Amino acid sequence: MSATEQGSEPGNELVVIADKPQPKPKAARPTPIDPGFHYHRLRKTVHVICVIIFFLLPLTNLMRIDIPRQRVFFFGYELLISEFSIIFFSMMFLMFVVAAMAVMWGRVYCGYLCPQMIFSEASIALEGRLQRTVNKYVKGDGTKRTVLSRALFYLISGAAAVVLSFVFIAYFVEPRDLLHRLLSLDIKTAGGIAGAATTLLTLIDFLFVRLTFCTTVCPYGYLQGMLTDGHTLLVHYRDDSHECIECMKCMRVCHMGIDIRHSPYQIECVGCGECIEACNVVLAKLGEPGLIHYVWGEQGERLGTGDKTWFQKIGLRDAKRVVLMLVLLFYAIGLFTALSMRHSVLVQISPVRATLYRQDKDGTVYNTFRLKAANRSHQQQTVVLGIVGLAGIHFSSFENAVVVSPGQTVDRDFEIAASPGSGLIAGVNHFSLSSRVGNERESFDETFITPFKDSQ
Ligand code: SF4
Ligand code: SF4
Repeated sequence: MSATEQGSEPGNELVVIADKPQPKPKAARPTPIDPGFHYHRLRKTVHVICVIIFFLLPLTNLMRIDIPRQRVFFFGYELLISEFSIIFFSMMFLMFVVAAMAVMWGRVYCGYLCPQMIFSEASIALEGRLQRTVNKYVKGDGTKRTVLSRALFYLISGAAAVVLSFVFIAYFVEPRDLLHRLLSLDIKTAGGIAGAATTLLTLIDFLFVRLTFCTTVCPYGYLQGMLTDGHTLLVHYRDDSHECIECMKCMRVCHMGIDIRHSPYQIECVGCGECIEACNVVLAKLGEPGLIHYVWGEQGERLGTGDKTWFQKIGLRDAKRVVLMLVLLFYAIGLFTALSMRHSVLVQISPVRATLYRQDKDGTVYNTFRLKAANRSHQQQTVVLGIVGLAGIHFSSFENAVVVSPGQTVDRDFEIAASPGSGLIAGVNHFSLSSRVGNERESFDETFITPFKDSQ
């Protein structure tokens, strides 16, 4: 410290005047930077869109496996359960899409699109919000507030379980029929029992299971290990300059309860990106970039960086992925073609060979055939049959104009007759049966069998 001497004689004491302490030079305040992309906002927006789609699909008949009516509604197409091949390929296509997403973008389905994740997070958020609201507005001891917030949570969860179960079961039962069952508190029929059981399971899921389901029961998480490779998108922590301030914000925002700093390959990580945003926000205030990122493979570059082409930026980073996308494209084209080539009425004609033929006393020979016509359209349709390629045979006592109502399936046996002297050979005679429904025509190869000894 510096001082100034004023003198040593009486009255002229030595006075030491200390200089004003100089303030320590302040460390330069870090300039905050932009924390970057808002993954939380993106996820919540996607979640809202998913919930709207979840409600709309069955309520607008866009998607339903209608078990009582044995139909499948698939984006405007009404398929009969008997059209199993198209239904099977549609299901396979959806499975394939989810698998392809896992190969390219890791667990993006779990983190952004899965209903279990969406509703579990909503349940956790609701519980927390109710607790905070009750603590803020209700006076009294802690026990009273806890009981009140739990009661409110159970009440709202119960109502939500009923609504969500209703929508879920509407994927299998027509909504008006379902509403009727619900209002009449039907717990006697199979549908009613299934509805009650689903509601109970949904409530248990909301209250107790939630995200534990993802790490214990759901097989999809475990499949990731088999589907991902060195180019798959994953969430990765990297701190080469030791800049982590141990704030633990990344752990606190993680609904799966893990610390991503330990490894990017933890089975619980659903790739939601919440920890990325949390770290970005914390370190941005200190003027530093975050330490957690989406990267293409552990050693790959960060999402959205690098000098890459557009298709590499969206995840098409090797030949395997390009082939995967091409297969998906061919699959989609095949499925669309199969759907668009469907006829409004499914006509099937088959011979009834319980007896090969029937012969009258006058020598007329009869063969029996069975027509099955299923109307998949919303209008009444008429099926008209014709005989092609074999002179000498005709329909016998068959009103050849079968009317089929919308949604109806008609089974009808009919006979084709050959009078004596019709010129048919003994044994097997080949011909075709044609069917006409409006402008749709089909042809079925058939055989007409006559007695093997005598020629007609
Ligand atoms: S570690 Fe990060 S990305 Fe993974 S689940 Fe937790 S918050 Fe989401
Ligand atoms: S949020 Fe970032 S700075 Fe904080 S502990 Fe996690 S990694 Fe470290």
